[in-house]
Amino acid sequence: MRAEAESRQRGLFEAEESLPRVERLTPESHENGPQAIFRTVFCELRPRSPIPPIAIEFCRFANANAFIQLKQGRIEVRITDVLQNAPEDVLEALAYILLSKLYRRPVPRESSHRYRRYLLRKDVRERISHVRRERGRKEVAAAAGGTYDLDEIFDAVNARYFHGLMARPSLGWSIRASRQTLGHYDASHHTIVLSRILDSADVPRLAVEYVMYHEMLHIRFPTEHRGARRCVHTREFKTEERKFEGFDEAKAILKAL
Ligand SMILES: [Zn+2]
Repeated sequence: MRAEAESRQRGLFEAEESLPRVERLTPESHENGPQAIFRTVFCELRPRSPIPPIAIEFCRFANANAFIQLKQGRIEVRITDVLQNAPEDVLEALAYILLSKLYRRPVPRESSHRYRRYLLRKDVRERISHVRRERGRKEVAAAAGGTYDLDEIFDAVNARYFHGLMARPSLGWSIRASRQTLGHYDASHHTIVLSRILDSADVPRLAVEYVMYHEMLHIRFPTEHRGARRCVHTREFKTEERKFEGFDEAKAILKAL
């Protein structure tokens, strides 16, 4: 999927290579907008360097991504189209973040804070979530694994801890056997995904049930947003999590994986 995206990207840039020379040699000709913002920030960061041509592309990414690279003396920027109409100070913050990254400088805190705050704004979050749902392909394997059936695990945990009242979300095993992410709840797809690494006879059922329980609590306690901080595991969440019978044992099993 990544290779496909790259070749498509190359295609875009090739098309631009054939723009009239004059256009590419005089980036200053654009009066306003993202180009101007990136040029201004470039001057701030590298006052002694001549400004290279800067190409900015707003792309239909499936999430809130932004990329930058230096290619044949040209700065190429790809930004999610969700940010296409973002306020100037947000694009300026993004320019600081990306250009600092490109030139291996520390990102100004003020910039990363402002950018993050914008992404956490309710309307922006909703737009990102919408875009993710529409464009993102959720790649998960079926709930019935080789050892454990997630439908069955869900039912058991639901009956024991939620009075069987939680509506069943989509359930699936991850494609890759991740050790870092043993489970996650994807709110935009309303899907609980457990790492394939848990679908093994070597992993006691208790541990699998615990990960399922943890993810179900994410449905029970939707993510709270406090200012620029994303608060996922609230005190309330953690108190509830401790009610899992065999909590310490399950934790120990997962730690030893
Ligand atoms: Zn969690």
